[in-house]
Amino acid sequence: MKLALSFALLLSLVLAVSSTAEEFDFFYLVQQWPGSFCDTEQGCCFPSTGKPAADFGIHGLWPNYAVCRTGGEPDAEFSIVGARKKCWPEYCNDDNPLSLLEIKDLLKPLDRNWPSLSCKNGGQSMRFWSYEWRKHGTCSGLDQHDYFEAALALKSRHNLTAILASAGIVPSDSRTYFLSSIRDAISDATGFAVNLECNRDESSEAQLFQVYQCVDRDGKELIDCTLPMRSKCTDRVKLPSF
Ligand code: AMP
Repeated sequence: MKLALSFALLLSLVLAVSSTAEEFDFFYLVQQWPGSFCDTEQGCCFPSTGKPAADFGIHGLWPNYAVCRTGGEPDAEFSIVGARKKCWPEYCNDDNPLSLLEIKDLLKPLDRNWPSLSCKNGGQSMRFWSYEWRKHGTCSGLDQHDYFEAALALKSRHNLTAILASAGIVPSDSRTYFLSSIRDAISDATGFAVNLECNRDESSEAQLFQVYQCVDRDGKELIDCTLPMRSKCTDRVKLPSF
């Protein structure tokens, strides 16, 4: 009897842990324009592999909730502080750090498509990937290899830099573009609505920083982004050179 009870307890614990990892509604695939990361006050540092291409780079593949949660029952298992709103799960398993061995066949494409630009990482993109895996990937329900492979596959399906260039939206330090033309170019080419995030350059001018594409729970297919997002964008924005 005691044995059966302990087994049931263990089983419910295992189920609780695995459901924590999988409880979300969709992913954001977040890609970042490197020129807009580097021309801010904080500046940037290139990875040891060299200056990345003038191309959108992956920031992360982030599990997200369709409805933000406040304190109480559903959030008890996540690191919620007080009644602060929680819009995504994070840090779901600190016992599963990223291992180079698990992703060794992906290192070249990761270097090319997911470069670190932060000076905090000492030129090591692996530090950026480890951070993203620990914060977001451990909540994805995917293993390490599938998580990074999914992000790379999604990025390669639609080349944002080429999509914008075909609409005449090319990097420039003097021109500005209608935010709506950027939004329309991407949704026309991919078939799905996206969210856009801007930041400010050193002269406080608004520039396109990140593109958020929404992806189904399997990490395979794009879906429309329907949640509003705070974005710091203005009607006209820059796409600075890199
Ligand atoms: P997250 O916590 O996943 O929203 O990511 C935010 C963190 O990622 C911040 O500390 C940023 O400085 C860092 N970050 C954003 N873009 C890059 C990049 N290209 N390289 C390295 N770190 C980055």
